[in-house]
Amino acid sequence: MEYKIRDIISYLNQIAPPAYQESYDNATLIVGNPEMEVKGVLCSLDCTEEVVEEAIQLGANLIVAHHPIVFRGLKSLTGKNYVERTVIKAIKHDIAIFSIHTNLDHVAHGVNKRICDRLGLENTQILQPKKGLLNKLTFFVPEENKQDVLDAVYAAGAGQIGEYKDCSFQIKGMGTFTPSESANPHLGQRGVPSYESEVRAEVILPKHLSGAILQAMRKAHPYEEVAYYLQELENENQEVGAGMIGDLPDSLDELGFLDYLKEEMNLKIVKHTSLRGKKVKKVAVCGGAGIFLLNDAKRQGADAFITADVKYHEFFDAEGRLILCDIGHYESEIFTKELLADLLSQNFPNIALYLTKVVTNPTSYR
Ligand SMILES: [Zn+2]
Repeated sequence: MEYKIRDIISYLNQIAPPAYQESYDNATLIVGNPEMEVKGVLCSLDCTEEVVEEAIQLGANLIVAHHPIVFRGLKSLTGKNYVERTVIKAIKHDIAIFSIHTNLDHVAHGVNKRICDRLGLENTQILQPKKGLLNKLTFFVPEENKQDVLDAVYAAGAGQIGEYKDCSFQIKGMGTFTPSESANPHLGQRGVPSYESEVRAEVILPKHLSGAILQAMRKAHPYEEVAYYLQELENENQEVGAGMIGDLPDSLDELGFLDYLKEEMNLKIVKHTSLRGKKVKKVAVCGGAGIFLLNDAKRQGADAFITADVKYHEFFDAEGRLILCDIGHYESEIFTKELLADLLSQNFPNIALYLTKVVTNPTSYR
């Protein structure tokens, strides 16, 4: 079975919809033609010139990287810095670069879940669920067509709440209308007031699927004109957001926890705030720069918060409420390349998949 770059992208976009990325992000196909046939995929945390060279050597023509090589617009392309040189090298060798970044941070089975799994955390939940990602659709349909329309909107992605699918609320009532002389009514007659027994059905849906779900509703609905309301919701989406929190299977004393953290995350060093003389059971995590979640971690009673890129003054903000651990940006997210390879192998079992062997960490320790 042969695949195009577009097939890989459309699968990854279902796992981590681009609509879930932060506004500053550039999670997209950065280089390459989506119609190219995939010869091999190289998974990586960063995309650098060395990673492009590795792809050339392996015969892989798609690099799936967590961090986007291009963040801001390029106004010229002359090779004056590593970003431009990486892009030029990829273009010269027909290598596509796809980035799946904060959208993969924000899904329940993304970057942070992989960290939780490394640490054996149980009862994991999103630490800071996002608002503004859900809509509500209310539509009116004759009783005998109700199930067809519901099935169509469910298939397009509506009606999913956590582990429950096909969720709706329905009330029976009376719909009224008078078709105009140029109407083509499914029920009733032109110019005659109609009173029809209808169902009012309500479903919740991801905002970014609204267009596809409305289209599915119209297609399955028997009426020429469908009466519906589409409304934005304030609700948090518990399945989408920043960071994660969970429980260790058994509480550990603090030194034992720090050793465990080093072991499981392959760390040479952990930079942390003072120990508190308390056991560690509840642990919050955020791969990469996650200090903006410190208050969420405190509020939810975390005994430790594991993240990276913490500045000197930010360590003070822990205020003895938890142990704040900076494990390094690269170290916190390095297992993301394995996550990407696992996701791809589940859906494309025969594709040539590689994990980069290049250590792209720009920092080191002695
Ligand atoms: Zn990162």
